[in-house]
Amino acid sequence: MPPVNTCDLLLTHAVLVTMDDDRRIVHDGALAVRGEHIAAVGTTAELSDWTAARRVDCSGKAVIPGLIDCHNHLFQLLGRGLGEGMALWPWLCEFIWPYAGGITRDEAVASVRLASVEAALAGTTCVIDNHYAPADPETTLAVAEAIERTGLRGSVARGITGTMTEVAAEHGLSPALFRHSADEEIAITEQCLRERTGHRVGVWPAPLNIIYVDQDLVGRSVELARTHGTPWHSHCSEARVDPEIYQQAYGTRPFLWLRDAGLLDERATLAHAIWLDDEEIEAVGTARSGLSYNPMSNQYLASGTMRLRDVRTAGAVVGLGSDGSAGHRMDMFQVMKQAIYVQRLTTLEPDSTNAMEALTLATREGARYAGIDAGQLTPGTLADLAVINLDAPPPRPPPRHRLHPRLLRHRRRRRTDRRRRARHHRARSVHGGRRGGDHGRSRGAGKGVGGAVGAGAGVSGLTVWVVKVYRVSCSSLAQKT
Ligand SMILES: [Zn+2]
Repeated sequence: MPPVNTCDLLLTHAVLVTMDDDRRIVHDGALAVRGEHIAAVGTTAELSDWTAARRVDCSGKAVIPGLIDCHNHLFQLLGRGLGEGMALWPWLCEFIWPYAGGITRDEAVASVRLASVEAALAGTTCVIDNHYAPADPETTLAVAEAIERTGLRGSVARGITGTMTEVAAEHGLSPALFRHSADEEIAITEQCLRERTGHRVGVWPAPLNIIYVDQDLVGRSVELARTHGTPWHSHCSEARVDPEIYQQAYGTRPFLWLRDAGLLDERATLAHAIWLDDEEIEAVGTARSGLSYNPMSNQYLASGTMRLRDVRTAGAVVGLGSDGSAGHRMDMFQVMKQAIYVQRLTTLEPDSTNAMEALTLATREGARYAGIDAGQLTPGTLADLAVINLDAPPPRPPPRHRLHPRLLRHRRRRRTDRRRRARHHRARSVHGGRRGGDHGRSRGAGKGVGGAVGAGAGVSGLTVWVVKVYRVSCSSLAQKT
């Protein structure tokens, strides 16, 4: 046992946005990390007697819990910008499924690696990656490894399709992704799940979409999750026509079938869940199931808007997701902002949600959804953190009611300045200038949500940046450095 007041990493002079039960904000705050966990939180004065293997001065910066992306498809990044102007089903049939059917393992892993870096640079520390192309064991495991090597935590929700259903055939989905029998799907998923047990990035079963995956295979996937004690994942009721399609095929609505089949429980994590009627909302709330609200994707594909207030009031656990190339960027700050605006626009109520709720969904609620003990800065929780440059050291501490909106808005205003500094920083890094230097003083250490990708940095530049971010924000990597 180490002495009580020692730690591996000590952040000082930060604005700590704790997202704890009282939503405390600690000005001139300090946070101690020991091993994988937060050891102490307080003011810099209160933690002044702590000794640390490494100290980082976070003056002018905010520290928040790392953001949790509850639904993504990292392999889709290479297709970003394509498939414009389509609704969901044409987008699936004419763009993303042909893309998914054609992408190679190397391309998929490269896409995942790049997307993971982009996510990390935007303050994300955990991602649920719904991977389905290619979904062979080697690629699935390589994707999990690529995410973990970036420094992220999370799960690869392996997309399960099985044999082609009548719904899939009738609505024009390519047979290219229905490659495996139901038995093969379960066997491959279980193999991957076993091999990733104990890793920071695990594997969940993920029947790809409740609407067009065989009901029996959905049931077997959920059973597999229960056997191994993991959550399971799927898409459900994303397009307005989805419940109608399901009703015609099976004589019920999708969430009601899940409830009646005994599949809707706390292990369920379902992306979108837009077109639910009142009975379905009651069912998903009573079950305390997880829902991923993906406002960027939902606007891009004109899918609709989750009934956020209703599903949260009913009891569902709602997190936020960026949803692959349909969300465009692996940027949870954009997602949070749009999560607010689209609710206001849909409900015509400016107070329908706010920045605090968006941060709550992206942190505390995302952690519940992902099944991890994170999402807040409190002793004993996982030390998954993001360090954010505020616009400038404020002349006085911003009042509580202004800090959260400021966090969500500040980044866009600094793009030009960041681009210039990113080039400068990259040039120094390539020449070894600060790579192993004093990260408490380095500019890179302060770019917890920096814009190296948006600034068009090359891959070598990105690597340097993410190492710097995670030396600050990820305790497990900090141990290795
Ligand atoms: Zn999706």
